[in-house]
Amino acid sequence: MIEIDELHKTFKTPAGDYAALCGVDLTVAAGELVAIAGKSGSGKSTLLHLVGGLDSPSSGTIRIAGRRVGGMNEKELAAWRGRSVGFVFQFFQLMPTLTALENVLLPMDFLGALPAARRRERAQLLLAKVEIAEQAHKLPAALSGGQQQRVAIARALANDPPLILADEPTGNLDSATAAAVLALFRALADGGKTVLIATHERDIAGIANRVSTLADGRFLAGGKA
Ligand code: ADP
Ligand code: MG
Repeated sequence: MIEIDELHKTFKTPAGDYAALCGVDLTVAAGELVAIAGKSGSGKSTLLHLVGGLDSPSSGTIRIAGRRVGGMNEKELAAWRGRSVGFVFQFFQLMPTLTALENVLLPMDFLGALPAARRRERAQLLLAKVEIAEQAHKLPAALSGGQQQRVAIARALANDPPLILADEPTGNLDSATAAAVLALFRALADGGKTVLIATHERDIAGIANRVSTLADGRFLAGGKA
């Protein structure tokens, strides 16, 4: 599902070039949940951004389901992203003026793949899947952190993408809530989704197929995929 070969990412900064990823290789099969561990600044977010086509590599290749992410123009990339990738972030990033249900509707409205009449029904179904159906008509501010993250996961699933990318999804949750959210990701992988989670949470080892650890933009031997 994910094939990454010799990935490099160098940022230009006022202080000079900064190599955030220095030759990363990673292969993830469909239905696997792989954790990317590593300290703050080790390159986890950079890697997820590249895999999700939010940023482009300096060199190296990324193939998702056989398709080369770097080979698309902006328009193709946006359409591909909408269909193929669901993102979950540390600070949820829900739209504050939209209800939970409307937040889940948004990616479906953007893609326009489902008839408008079917989208609400699907959004409600997804909220039920993450066990938060009864909060559908609340604004994010009226929900707890754990509830907001469940809404964000439902939103990530809106267009039924094969790939879920989660960047420190439990970083802002208490440990019991974090465990429940991690269990949701495990269930998604068991249902056939490919899940990549950046985290420095220790608990991840219990639910991940593999943990690969980044340090200074490289996978550590042993933790290497
Ligand atoms: P992590 O998610 O593991 O904390 P990041 O991938 O966010 O790490 O960052 C890796 C390194 O790259 C850090 O040193 C960070 O400061 C640097 N970096 C990330 N994004 C940029 C950017 N847009 N410009 C310059 N440096 C960046
Ligand atoms: Mg990060």
